[in-house]
Amino acid sequence: MLTEAFDVRDERFSSLVLGNVHLEKLATGCRWAEGPAYFPAGRYLIWSDIPNNRLMRYDETDGSVSVFQQPANNQNGHTVDREGRLVSCEHQGRCVSRIEHDGRRTVLASHYEGKRLNSPNDVVVKSDGSLWFTDPTYGIDSEYEGDAAPSEIGASNVYRLDPQTGQLATVATDFVKPNGLAFSPDEHLLYIADTGATHVKDGPRHIRRFTVTGDRLSGGEVFATCDVGLFDGLRVDVAGNIWTSAGDGVHCYAPDGALIGKIKVPEVVANVCFGGPKRNRLFICATTSLYAVYLRVQGALRPGT
Ligand code: MG
Repeated sequence: MLTEAFDVRDERFSSLVLGNVHLEKLATGCRWAEGPAYFPAGRYLIWSDIPNNRLMRYDETDGSVSVFQQPANNQNGHTVDREGRLVSCEHQGRCVSRIEHDGRRTVLASHYEGKRLNSPNDVVVKSDGSLWFTDPTYGIDSEYEGDAAPSEIGASNVYRLDPQTGQLATVATDFVKPNGLAFSPDEHLLYIADTGATHVKDGPRHIRRFTVTGDRLSGGEVFATCDVGLFDGLRVDVAGNIWTSAGDGVHCYAPDGALIGKIKVPEVVANVCFGGPKRNRLFICATTSLYAVYLRVQGALRPGT
């Protein structure tokens, strides 16, 4: 029997979830939980509490929760790269940074054509090591989640950072507020959320789907439109289903764009990531709290997913 945590909209969703499984609340006390990233070797999850300017850590071995870093440059989204290093989007730092194996912090991208980035929001790594990230203005719009400042670039773009050359290139420039992003398992597709409705009346509250060819994107049609709140962070499972944050929980979309089910969460969800030793546990950052739920399906096999 499925518990009340699951709202099945299409029978395909039933094969992705488990009976007798409940939504677990693992931690609370945040102001805006975001940016989860799971480290398999250590069996812990870090996530951002952006307004409190700290990173939190959930230790899966004993369930303990602690402050991982504070202050934390108002970090937002994270991923774990192919070498197991933490890659961070920093609002206050207005950059994408990486923690090296010896603990030092390296700024990977802070400017585009000589102008400061706005406030990188979310980042994903491709199998060639390139980093793809979004750069809306949420971290410079006010003093709440970073330092207020005008946008030097004057646009909210999506970027690709070449790891070899350090070159930063735009891959999409027609977003209002690009936000979460994730590749399909074969990396032929890239899904990118636009939360532009926060700034533009009747603005975007959708996910767009792009075709990836090398370091370029094409297409970009609307893949799904959010029916409650906004899509923020998202992840993809091994079968190509999209698990995305929304106002009433986590929404699951089949690769054909059908909303096949929801995980009901009692707080607004900002981001998710797969974790656990088997990648079958979905961690959910939802406003003040961290939740988790076990699924029948696994996250796509890529660090940080
Ligand atoms: Mg986000």
